[in-house]
Amino acid sequence: MSEKILIAIAWPYANAEIHVGNLTGSHLPGDILARYHRLKGDKVLMVSGTDSHGTPVSLRADSEGKPAEEVYKKFHDTFLSVFNGFGISYDLFTSTHTENHFKVAQSIFLALKENGFIFKKISSHWYSPVAEKFLPDRYVEGTCYICGYENARSDQCDQCGNVLEPEKLIEPRAKTGDGSLELRETEHFYLDLSKLEPKVKEFLRERASHLRDTVLGESLGKIESEGLLPRPITRDLDWGIPVPVEGWDGKCLYVWFEAVIGYLSAAIEWSRLTDDTERWRDWWLDPSVKQFYFIGKDNIFFHTSLWPAQLMGAGNQFMKIFAEEDKPLALPYDIPANQFMNLEGQKISGSRNWAVWCQDAIDRYDADALRFYLTINMPENKDSDWDWSEFVARNNNELVANWGNLANRILSFTYKHWEGVLPDPGKLRPNDKELMETINAGFELVGKELEAVHLRTALHETLRLASKVNKYLDTCAPWFEIKTDKELAAKSVFTALQAINSLKVMFSPFLPFSSEKLHHFLGYNDSLFGEQYQEKIQDSLGDHVVLKYLGDHSDVRWKPSPLEPGTILRQPVALFKKLDDSLVEEERARLGS
Ligand SMILES: [Zn+2]
Repeated sequence: MSEKILIAIAWPYANAEIHVGNLTGSHLPGDILARYHRLKGDKVLMVSGTDSHGTPVSLRADSEGKPAEEVYKKFHDTFLSVFNGFGISYDLFTSTHTENHFKVAQSIFLALKENGFIFKKISSHWYSPVAEKFLPDRYVEGTCYICGYENARSDQCDQCGNVLEPEKLIEPRAKTGDGSLELRETEHFYLDLSKLEPKVKEFLRERASHLRDTVLGESLGKIESEGLLPRPITRDLDWGIPVPVEGWDGKCLYVWFEAVIGYLSAAIEWSRLTDDTERWRDWWLDPSVKQFYFIGKDNIFFHTSLWPAQLMGAGNQFMKIFAEEDKPLALPYDIPANQFMNLEGQKISGSRNWAVWCQDAIDRYDADALRFYLTINMPENKDSDWDWSEFVARNNNELVANWGNLANRILSFTYKHWEGVLPDPGKLRPNDKELMETINAGFELVGKELEAVHLRTALHETLRLASKVNKYLDTCAPWFEIKTDKELAAKSVFTALQAINSLKVMFSPFLPFSSEKLHHFLGYNDSLFGEQYQEKIQDSLGDHVVLKYLGDHSDVRWKPSPLEPGTILRQPVALFKKLDDSLVEEERARLGS
């Protein structure tokens, strides 16, 4: 029976380009799971977008003398290009700066307020009499009152790592140079998380059996030891979503509060761009939906604890406000957060250029070669490391030697000796049948690992099966059989190509581009996956470009589909490139400069 699967991926923030750590942390694992479920015939919706608001964007805009919109759009465009290049198959990749997102986020706020989970509180914040405005968070720097670091941001110290109370900062100064600062009282809304704590704990306990240990520790473990405390959900800022309450001009919803609502608003925007404008309900109102959230470890608390608190606090009230219906929203099913990927033994750092930027990587290497290395090395349960020499070694010894050469060698051989037609094998031998059974059992074995989001194991399992085909061919050796008995050789190539046809499907969530090519070489006229494309959307806030995916997933492809004797094959070319060792030093020389 087909399932409804929501793949929700962390919204990249519009103040930095995407590096390989970001990609393997959330976007790539989400894409692999989405592609698998589409092949299974499940109803998949995969969404994300650019987190466009907040002080990092507006501060950058202020200091460059540009509109904030221009700053966020510059990064948004680079995100679209990277996801397109890597085949991250978003049904919709949008932005938080849309009329639709404003409306949905404001409705969640009002629902929480209506249900009594929001309160007002007056507190002191830094104010610039010169600029005649409050300067929140990153707008103010000064000396850390904990460690003495002189360039601490008012909300966080990068030296000691502590979250700071802005009003305690020593010798505060405005990043924008707006004169001396003073503390003034201002009023903000707070989400009363202490009231929602019992519900959040229950939510986490119900999912404890399938949440990763690292995720459970950072959520339930943290709440049990520290409790859930109220958090401010508004800011004195004009770049963002206005607080939908009269008299609150000049204040916006805090980014942490509104960006997560994007998982819901993007689903709504996506369905409004289709013929059936209410399709989003399948992934948001049906309690049987499985929602997966792909995030990095720094985002665990927001997605495991705060976002469910927002959803449960809004309760049925969101739909009452939004659609005049009395229904609750669905809750997350799994939050398979990844740890971090380091680079050549050090933490990735954008400011030191100690990073492999995704756009550079995709300009220099094939997407599947990068996807392969990022999956086999994915930081699922502990930090991993990108190492250029390992990238070359794994590409050449595993991807090319074990899988690429196997497919190419047997396809070329068959193409040459049987004039491009799959031969009739006659009666198969026991070892032929045994190989087919072994490979086809992979659909269940690999599928199980994918469903549990054990992506590394799933890829290793698929590689292990490819080795079995290599062993089979070493034993049968059709290249010798053909010299004495072409009928025997026909049995071997027929069997090996059936196995490759099945493995092509199992590899395809990881390696979509090369699997599509192989699908074509094996004589198919259709494609395994849909197409990605961009579209410009107009609304009352202006325009924004979205990345979309068009595909029909009604056929179940995650199963053996035998190639018939007589199938006309196409002339194959190599699926992957062998990489030269010299690139290791070239790439290392680029780091940190
Ligand atoms: Zn400090």
